[in-house]
Amino acid sequence: MRPNLYFRSMQLSAWEKESFFAPQDIVIIGSGLVGLWCARELAIHRPGTKITILERGFIPAGASTRNAGFSCFGSPTELLNDVALLGADRMWEIVEMRYQGMQKITQVFNEDLIDYERSGGYEVYTNPRNETFSAQVEWLNQGLHRISGREQCFTWADSKLGEFGLHGFASMIENELEGFLHSGKLLQALVREVQNLGVQVFAGAAVSGWEQFNGKISVDCKGGWSFSTERLLVCTNAFTSLLCPGVRVLPGRGQVILTSPVPGLKLRGAFHFEDGFYYFRNLGERVLLGGARNKAFETEQTTSMDTSEAIQSALEDFVATHILPGGAFTIEQRWSGIMGFTDDKQPILQKVDDRVYIAVSCNGMGVALAPIIAEKVCEMMN
Ligand SMILES: Cc1cc2nc3c(=O)[nH]c(=O)nc-3n(C[C@H](O)[C@H](O)[C@H](O)COP(=O)(O)OP(=O)(O)OC[C@H]3O[C@@H](n4cnc5c(N)ncnc54)[C@H](O)[C@@H]3O)c2cc1C
Repeated sequence: MRPNLYFRSMQLSAWEKESFFAPQDIVIIGSGLVGLWCARELAIHRPGTKITILERGFIPAGASTRNAGFSCFGSPTELLNDVALLGADRMWEIVEMRYQGMQKITQVFNEDLIDYERSGGYEVYTNPRNETFSAQVEWLNQGLHRISGREQCFTWADSKLGEFGLHGFASMIENELEGFLHSGKLLQALVREVQNLGVQVFAGAAVSGWEQFNGKISVDCKGGWSFSTERLLVCTNAFTSLLCPGVRVLPGRGQVILTSPVPGLKLRGAFHFEDGFYYFRNLGERVLLGGARNKAFETEQTTSMDTSEAIQSALEDFVATHILPGGAFTIEQRWSGIMGFTDDKQPILQKVDDRVYIAVSCNGMGVALAPIIAEKVCEMMN
């Protein structure tokens, strides 16, 4: 005999049972970018649908508020690597989604509200340009023309290396379409947006599992709370295997450092280096630098949000060598966030069980991808 859906819940008052814990149409697990964009899309396209988001952290506790805030669709070496890994068609598909996602962010939110800056994106190289790579960049430009309408997305900009105060690089490519934003403000704006659309968002609600019974799903949270829903959407990214053991999403820790303010800082824009494994930008007059995961892939395959000596010193060396030689700065903040990766770099959007769906693994590209993943989830759940 299965227990009544509310049996395992706390003893709720009549008011609680008919409000906060009223049966839902859709429960979403995880309030990162994917969970929030999905909630927004579902609420807009199905007015009147009762949607609740359950987030284990006090605030989102994965990648979304701990990233670099690049609104980008891929640097040349990153895209060429993806061609080798995925093939050209699949690479273009993801680029198109990222490009459309970038457009959507600024259509939905006032740029000032989320500190969106059309700063331009850059990729820097220690080697001078050569004919083979230049031809590959031209090929990328042709494909990007179809997607963005821009004739030359990637342009050589070596002369700007000095303008930005960069050292130890021989060449650079500029992409005027990229920029950056404030990840904390974007998440806050999304939370406000979904709440205005009638979505309930609970923080500190760590889901421990769920059970299906009589055509309903009972979603259980640590602490004894439980919610009844028609359908469930899992947006737990790198933490998915804890809830769905059959789904393979590998964690990848991304570490970041932020310098003290540097008077007269010349760096302006969103920069990529080494196939996108290093990324840096200005945050006002400070330098934010993240990455170096390629220096220790295995140790960074973790869900621990600590920082590590090896990566932190690789990042510090990079700032001291390439961005601020002379050492007139201190490191004021260090943090890490956990990304979710699949072997084939594809996000996983699937129905995994009767009434249970997952949307996970942006493979380190979620700022731009999440708005479009949400559109696809909405179609999938139709
Ligand atoms: C250092 C770093 C730099 C990055 N830089 C960029 C960048 O510049 N541009 C870019 O596009 N992308 C970047 N990314 C990647 C981007 O941040 C992610 O792709 C995106 O945030 C993923 O969103 P998500 O919602 O899938 O995952 P998350 O933000 O990880 O959200 C998943 C949520 O699920 C919650 N959760 C997990 N388990 C449970 C449970 N059992 N119960 C309830 N809640 C649960 C977690 O607490 C978390 O809040 C970066 C990531 C990192 C870490």
